[in-house]
Amino acid sequence: LHRFCNIPSTLSFIRRRLSCIRAMSSHIVGYPRIGPKRELKFALESFWDGKINADELQKVAKDLRVSMWKKMASAGTRFIPSNTFSYYDQVLDTTAMLGAVPERYGWTGGDVGFDIYFSMARGNATLPAMEMTKWFDTNYHYIVPELSPDLKFTYSSHKAVAEYNEAKETGIETVPVILGPISYLLLSKPAKGVGKSFSLLSLLGKIIPIYKEVLAELKAVGATWVQFDEPMLVLDLDAEQLKAFTDAYEQLGESSSGLNVLVETYFADIPADAYKTITSLKGVSAIGLDLVRGGKSLDLIKSTGFPSDKYLFAGIVDGRNIWANDLEASLETLITLEGIVGKEKLVVSTSCSLLHTAVDLMNETKLDKEIMSWLAFAAQKVLEVNALAKALAGEKDEAYFSASVAAQASRSSSPRVNDEAIKKAAAAALRGSDHRRATPVSARLDAQKKKLNLPFLPTTTIGSFPQTMDLRRVRREYKANKISEEEYVKAIKEEIGKVIKLQEELGIDVLVHGEPERNDMVEYFGEQLKGFAFTVNGWVQSYGSRCVKPPIIYGDVSRPKPMTVFWSTTAQSMTSCPMKGMLTGPVTILNWSFVRNDQPRFETCYQIALAIKDEVEDLEAVGIQVIQIDEAALREGLPLRKSEQAFYLDWAVHSFRITNCGVKDTTQIHTHMCYSNFNDIIHSIIDMDADVITIENSRSDEKLLSVFREGVKYGAGIGPGVYDIHSPRIPTKEEIAERIKKMLAVLEMNVLWVNPDCGLKTRKYTEVKPALTNMVAAAKLIRSQL
Ligand code: GLN
Ligand code: ZN
Repeated sequence: LHRFCNIPSTLSFIRRRLSCIRAMSSHIVGYPRIGPKRELKFALESFWDGKINADELQKVAKDLRVSMWKKMASAGTRFIPSNTFSYYDQVLDTTAMLGAVPERYGWTGGDVGFDIYFSMARGNATLPAMEMTKWFDTNYHYIVPELSPDLKFTYSSHKAVAEYNEAKETGIETVPVILGPISYLLLSKPAKGVGKSFSLLSLLGKIIPIYKEVLAELKAVGATWVQFDEPMLVLDLDAEQLKAFTDAYEQLGESSSGLNVLVETYFADIPADAYKTITSLKGVSAIGLDLVRGGKSLDLIKSTGFPSDKYLFAGIVDGRNIWANDLEASLETLITLEGIVGKEKLVVSTSCSLLHTAVDLMNETKLDKEIMSWLAFAAQKVLEVNALAKALAGEKDEAYFSASVAAQASRSSSPRVNDEAIKKAAAAALRGSDHRRATPVSARLDAQKKKLNLPFLPTTTIGSFPQTMDLRRVRREYKANKISEEEYVKAIKEEIGKVIKLQEELGIDVLVHGEPERNDMVEYFGEQLKGFAFTVNGWVQSYGSRCVKPPIIYGDVSRPKPMTVFWSTTAQSMTSCPMKGMLTGPVTILNWSFVRNDQPRFETCYQIALAIKDEVEDLEAVGIQVIQIDEAALREGLPLRKSEQAFYLDWAVHSFRITNCGVKDTTQIHTHMCYSNFNDIIHSIIDMDADVITIENSRSDEKLLSVFREGVKYGAGIGPGVYDIHSPRIPTKEEIAERIKKMLAVLEMNVLWVNPDCGLKTRKYTEVKPALTNMVAAAKLIRSQL
């Protein structure tokens, strides 16, 4: 009571309170939902298998949400996100919110429940799932909404409100996060059968009312902030799209009075025109920018200023990687920003949702202390954001900052990171050459034809054969030292023998050894290369309950000794058919890893390429005549902004060429690529200069073939997958023959290969045997008609 009677002391109390609020100007864009030990994955899979019920699943989910909110709250986070949890995908959640359920799923209205939700996500007994595609340039996949002009939208999932309330009940005030209307529409596709003239953005007027209902309900339950994610804004949008953006937020702004709207962007620089649009939006209180991938955004703020009526949520802690933040450097940037946007208007944040990084470093038991000190996973990044916010408010945690300085210094001076010998060798190898094979591909193909003596339409597979439980157990036990090396080698040899025998019986022309010794096509190589580290629990959600555990490339990369030569020679010795050596390419190894951030990506990629080059040449030296270098993920690394794509393609393709520029004309280099969306990069694919490319194509023959129909010259061998390995369905001989014929109408007979569209690892032998039997029969049938 005394305090409130005494005016000066009340004022100082208020001032202290204010400075306290100031000290907590921190924000997290989103948090991983899968759980520190993949708890959500296991609960989901048990639920789908009928082993737990919906209540049990919901309990696991709730515990995960509450624990992440508490984590963020106890670190002092001022703006804590809610509704970033999802049972499958946040885009699908938005589809449920808008009631945009495709008709075929038989939804009859009301709140979208688990049944309908998971049917859309995963399909059900009678219906396939909705399409899934990559979320921007991440390895996360979202469920693509299907929209049509006559779709009726209704507010059909109150998840955002429910999560806000749930957090509030645990005493935590949160910022509900919702995918914004423009990004939602632009990430969608027109439903089947919708006319070409249909524009996705034409639905804006129909979905805004639903967004308004959500805002009204959030306001009614006491929310004071809402975050709309609009990552689409970092792409090259045209004037019309930007105009739609302004329209949308002006309408939302009108109905959001009393509610602060944060528009969050991430994954790249924000283009200058989009920056202008977003900074002039009325009714928007705050803008979130990715300052890690967006160095130019920082320049824009500096050169054009920042509106005085808005907050800047400065994404300075990297959400896409696992490196500890250089706190001193970040603090300096933040102080500069503070000078522009004002002390009260700057909020420290992550560059994007932490969904794209690993969850908690505390669960790592196998990394050494030194490497640990260089890393920060989501839980540690929350601490970094708050430490920066406190430092800005004059409450710098000196001990925490000096630990950061020490870690940065140890990382940059460690000989494990910077190996002068590797750097010198790489510089020398790269000097002045663009690494092309001396002979043009047509002449090489002639030389190979003579040597390999292959028929027209040669048949092959992509590399892996089914991985049985037994096989996985053998690898696991060997890793855990439960069986001897001798026993392990014997088991793997037996498996290779079986796979070879099967291929010989089937009459396949170019064989593979089946990859039984590999758990994962990147990890297998990373484990044998210098400069890589592996986590135990560093999982990142890929889609639904699926997670990946990317290796960490922390240092200069080199190859201490041959990696695949033993298995390839073993396999070749068991058959007189050509046996493909099987390697993962540098670009794919790079794109599926957490990459060091202390040198440009291309430098790391070139180092990997030089290591793979040594392997290629060793394979050739022991008599392997066909070598496949998989670049499954080359397309994935394509930068979001058009202006950056040519540069990426240039060094990525160059890296691939480095791996095989040194082989003889008679050595046949294959490559394999996943995802069929190649038309825009076809010239880069040609520039890879492989002898044969096998390419995933099963779902869109037409699209791929249209490039060639339009006259693109591809003189090398090409094997567009003749059947879809992602489905258990067994293709008939007739349908495969039909597809080969279609391809022959566009491609020359002597360049066409016949193969499935990807590796067979996830299939069963009961599917693989008949499918390959039909594939070989189809190839023979067409050959006999030539
Ligand atoms: N060689 C690999 C395999 O067959 C290729 C996998 C991939 O393209 N993703 O498994
Ligand atoms: Zn593939």
